[in-house]
Amino acid sequence: MKKNFKYTKKGSDRYIVGETEQFDQKNDMFKRMIWDPDIKDIGKKFYMNPVHPQTKQGYHLKDFSMINAAWQLEDHYGNGIWGGKKDLYDWGWNGEYSYPCVPRGLKIDLENPQSVTDAVRKAGQFYGAAKVGICQFDRRWLYSRGYTKKGTPDAGESFDIDLPMEYKTAAVLLIEMDYKGVACSPAGPATAATGIAYSKMAFTAGSLATFIRGLGYKAIPCGNDTACSIPMAIDAGLGELARNGLLITPDFGPRVRICKVFTDMPLVPDQPIEMGVWDFCMICKKCARQCPSQALSHGEPTDKPHDSSNRKGVEKWHIKAKKCASFWASQGIDCSNCIRSCPFNKPPGILHDIVRWFIRNIRPFNRIMYWMDEIFGYGRQQNPEKFWKK
Ligand code: SF4
Ligand code: SF4
Repeated sequence: MKKNFKYTKKGSDRYIVGETEQFDQKNDMFKRMIWDPDIKDIGKKFYMNPVHPQTKQGYHLKDFSMINAAWQLEDHYGNGIWGGKKDLYDWGWNGEYSYPCVPRGLKIDLENPQSVTDAVRKAGQFYGAAKVGICQFDRRWLYSRGYTKKGTPDAGESFDIDLPMEYKTAAVLLIEMDYKGVACSPAGPATAATGIAYSKMAFTAGSLATFIRGLGYKAIPCGNDTACSIPMAIDAGLGELARNGLLITPDFGPRVRICKVFTDMPLVPDQPIEMGVWDFCMICKKCARQCPSQALSHGEPTDKPHDSSNRKGVEKWHIKAKKCASFWASQGIDCSNCIRSCPFNKPPGILHDIVRWFIRNIRPFNRIMYWMDEIFGYGRQQNPEKFWKK
């Protein structure tokens, strides 16, 4: 089977149509829920109200317990949703291994940069990434400032990021989310699928950073912190931007989470790709229809932001963050309908590869592909009890 994408010259640049400033992390939806008077009440409800099990399927105690356990590693040893910089996302390392006792100061021979790049990619996959792409780091995607929690769930603070200039390259890692879990969205198993992906991010990015440091180079592992992950993933040849505001990848559609490792190691970058997502989104709109809060656009892409959570100068389908946050707060757990419903969200397989090949190569067929997706019932919510079956 041929690849279901082609290489292209433009990475995240293709969406920039005007002057764009670095994004301040305090403006992302989850951070605004802490400090922005316009959305703070929603935040209080989301972060502080107790969530009681219900008789409704997908909202039982076992579902909520599954969610809490899934988030455990991110919450206690990661913090990549907030400021990062500690535990598995620690920026520093004392240069010593306990086992095996490799001496300090060794450096890998970089005579063949491609083979070292391949080793870094292999290591990322070995530690848990479904895909690893490499990009030259475009500092426009660095946050102007970071934002982190401070003591109680309703308090936070901004901080300077200070990513040194020698970090010119990044390995961008995709963590696949559980297909059956996401299929239950917005019920509990989908939130558990999100949580376990975040926990895997912390483990995978932290391990890869340690691997790179062991080769004698500097490495900084990050989750959502420090820089915008989606444009970096586009630059690293991992996918395209879509109507749902997410990265669409050739193999998993939007059913991925993204983490990254910045390094001073001169890795060989991957080429950006193109797989027909933009044109398909123009006719599809399934995510917009399936969004319970109507936070997604049914219209044309635009460079006009709705509020501070959207970025100026970028042409895309901007999301209404406040509406999305309201829905999350109303049910006490998150939602993945915009992932679940997307026709690109399919488990890998020959049939689905053929469909993606048509989308990329024969665009007049897009409508037929869309209707086939509807007829076969893809993207509809699955009964959460099915998730629990063997
Ligand atoms: S997460 Fe849910 S509520 Fe938010 S944009 Fe996606 S579908 Fe809409
Ligand atoms: S559901 Fe359709 S419109 Fe939405 S992101 Fe996926 S392909 Fe694009």
